[in-house]
Amino acid sequence: MIWSIAVDLKQIQQQGKGYAWPRPESCPRCRHWQVWGHGYALRYFNGFPTALPMKCYRCPQCGCVMTVRPADYFSRIRSTMAVIVTCLTQRLTQGRWPVLPLPRSRLRHWLANLNRRVRIHLTETWSDGLLTGYDRLLERGQIPVARVS
Ligand SMILES: [Zn+2]
Repeated sequence: MIWSIAVDLKQIQQQGKGYAWPRPESCPRCRHWQVWGHGYALRYFNGFPTALPMKCYRCPQCGCVMTVRPADYFSRIRSTMAVIVTCLTQRLTQGRWPVLPLPRSRLRHWLANLNRRVRIHLTETWSDGLLTGYDRLLERGQIPVARVS
């Protein structure tokens, strides 16, 4: 289970496991009053050359394992939500990608995935614009730019 919460990646880069990790007040699954530390999982983020440790917790009652995920990132995507929205907005409103230290192919994948998801999950004849589609997909709990499996 992912525990999405505000954390400071720069500080995590500097302090590693010594970072003042927030701790869930109770188990999100069974509401047990306390969870225990359960090691770390390494994750890659854009702008950070090495993997960063994300703290994991485990509930002693139900066995649920929670891994911290920075609240401004989608699962398994290394760029922040803000960067993704900025890129898509500029491409869709001005017809060009912003100049960023990101491979252009990644930006094109986001757009292609968004396009596919809109057609699969909203409607084949979506005419409200892809940015609106992005919001609708988010409302449905989807990651709008994630690969369609
Ligand atoms: Zn539990």
